[in-house]
Amino acid sequence: MTSTDPTRTEQPRTDLLQQLSLHRAEVERLRRTVCELHGELTRWNLVTWTSGNISARVPGTDLMLIKPSGVSYDELRSEDIVVCDLRGRLLDGHHKPSSDTDAHAYVYRARPDVGGVVHTHSPYATAWAARGEAVPCAITAMADEFGGDIPVGPFALIGDDSIGKGIVATLEDHRSPAVLMRGHGVFTIGATAKAAVKAAVMCEDVARTVHIARQGGPVERLPQDDVDSLYHRYQNAYGQ
Ligand SMILES: [Zn+2]
Repeated sequence: MTSTDPTRTEQPRTDLLQQLSLHRAEVERLRRTVCELHGELTRWNLVTWTSGNISARVPGTDLMLIKPSGVSYDELRSEDIVVCDLRGRLLDGHHKPSSDTDAHAYVYRARPDVGGVVHTHSPYATAWAARGEAVPCAITAMADEFGGDIPVGPFALIGDDSIGKGIVATLEDHRSPAVLMRGHGVFTIGATAKAAVKAAVMCEDVARTVHIARQGGPVERLPQDDVDSLYHRYQNAYGQ
């Protein structure tokens, strides 16, 4: 079995602690990155009080870093970021991991291509989630980033793999790196934690714009051919 098989048996703690000691420098570098990226969630008004969290996979290992539970954004320091295995068990840190750790861990087990996961209750996107309605791909910025609608995933309660399964199953059928979990909020994925944060910022931005557009009248999806060509141009040719 590979280390990313979601059904694989649990690894012995001694193996995981050995991975942690072998990759210590990378873990500490990622701790600083993940801590700094949490500042983007407050900067873009995606979170309230202690809600929301960012995680990162430690490349080439069965380890992930994530925000601790219930620590305020103002007080979050890089040493507070905890290290868990891909079953969400705490390996290194002084705090309890985020209550959303199981969902993040499931995504890393099921999707070897994912290096970062973000969760927020950002208000406009979460309003679409509360209605259980996908954000229709009606503007070029959405075609660029999301390659189509931002889909809705199933309602699921915290406490087991239900949220993680819902995220993975929904994103399997879409180009979008963001999913609106019904009646809950946003989960985004990326090759890195920074890419997942960007998807969370853009998700809220387009959810707000399309919501505002709706107030003035009906909103139409862009033609699929145009969505496809915008998406491919942005993903392959845009930027430096
Ligand atoms: Zn939540």
